[in-house]
Amino acid sequence: MLDNLGGRFQEIFKKVKGHGKLNEDNIKAALKEVRLSLLEADVNYKVVKDFVNRIKEKAIGEEVMTGINPGQQFVKIVNDELVELLGGTNARLTKAPKAPTVIMLAGLQGAGKTTFAAKLAKFLKKQGERPYLVGADVYRPAAMKQLQVLGEQIDVPVYVEEGSKDARGICDNGLAIAKENKATYVILDTAGRLHIDESLMDELRDIRKATRPQEILLVVDAMIGQDAVNLAESFNNTLNIDGVVLTKLDGDTRGGAALSIKAVVGKPIKFVGVGEKIDDIELFHPERLVSRILG
Ligand code: GDP
Repeated sequence: MLDNLGGRFQEIFKKVKGHGKLNEDNIKAALKEVRLSLLEADVNYKVVKDFVNRIKEKAIGEEVMTGINPGQQFVKIVNDELVELLGGTNARLTKAPKAPTVIMLAGLQGAGKTTFAAKLAKFLKKQGERPYLVGADVYRPAAMKQLQVLGEQIDVPVYVEEGSKDARGICDNGLAIAKENKATYVILDTAGRLHIDESLMDELRDIRKATRPQEILLVVDAMIGQDAVNLAESFNNTLNIDGVVLTKLDGDTRGGAALSIKAVVGKPIKFVGVGEKIDDIELFHPERLVSRILG
């Protein structure tokens, strides 16, 4: 993930460190390259502009230019700003004061919701929790079957209502049964559509009202690049999401969405999907990702 960007940054830093002393001209030249690399990585234009300006403000200052190790200081500024861009600290799941914690997943069809529902259930189970899965993707009957198969694999109960088209009803009933079974987490796998439309948003609002989730996580496919950011913005405007799950970061993605979402949408990335298998889930750690990018 973001390997190309890492390579580009290494080169820029090598040049900067080679200068020994930094002046306004060579800082500006380095920043021009930083800007280009970020744009090539598909980071949102405005995000890049603000990011580069912030670094410029910090770097073109007495301390960096006259310090003992100006190159190193420049690298540190870029590092800190990247971490900030990705949301600063790790964003954790909110826990309900009284179990179960309800986590509602939303997103377009094919984003990886059903897969993530199972990944998250296993992740929580490993932490000693008692997750319960509810399949409410009523428009894609295969999704319910898929969830049942995954649930069996990880030994987590799955609630579905075969033939029902009432997503809100399924979530309501599923939540009641999960409570009876003393579940500590209930994960609602809702329906997606090919595009955002009013009926999707109405349905999601309905489910939210009925189940009062602690977390609404939007699942987005990182492969769609800038569209992932636009999508997250639209969902956030209507649903007020709590965080984003970025899937398919293992694929051929330039990763710009990961770097843009927090700055544009204002909501943190909480998890990333890094493969099709059930264990291919990672908590999103801004610092770790940045140290991977910067080496
Ligand atoms: P849904 O329609 O949102 O429920 O999407 P699915 O969970 O059915 O996933 C759609 C496709 O994406 C499936 O083929 C999954 O195996 C695949 N997928 C999901 N998450 C990831 C991921 O993190 N990496 C990769 N490479 N594929 C994924």
